[in-house]
Amino acid sequence: MENPWFLMICSCGRYFGRKMGQNTNCPMCDSTSSKQVEKYPDPMSLAKAVSQANLPEAISKELMEKETKKFHRKKDNMNGGKNNFLISAMKRSTDQDGTLTMDSLVSELRSSGSDEVSAELLIGQAELEGMLIKTGRKSWKWL
Ligand SMILES: [Zn+2]
Repeated sequence: MENPWFLMICSCGRYFGRKMGQNTNCPMCDSTSSKQVEKYPDPMSLAKAVSQANLPEAISKELMEKETKKFHRKKDNMNGGKNNFLISAMKRSTDQDGTLTMDSLVSELRSSGSDEVSAELLIGQAELEGMLIKTGRKSWKWL
């Protein structure tokens, strides 16, 4: 038998637990219109999942902020090295022809949470260091 403990979500938005074969009404609104979200192998993991899923928004936000801070700390460590993180962001913004464009770097930096780093500055630095050569108004190639 595999994972007979179910995490359910009710149409009212409340998460609750259910064991396979049991019909459980929502503890909040007593409705039976719930959907199975996930399965768990034991009641302990299910209980944990239920309480996490039902966390009030304020608390989840706090957790999110903690995670974000952790991420920033990690990033700082990487920047302490050889700017590997930024260089790999630049590599990721390079297309198959080896062309790096300002727009792709800007969106790459944005999606990796490095908004504060200017794409122009990065490219300018890479040009100075002889890593990139300008091939168009807003495009560069790696040397
Ligand atoms: Zn409900």
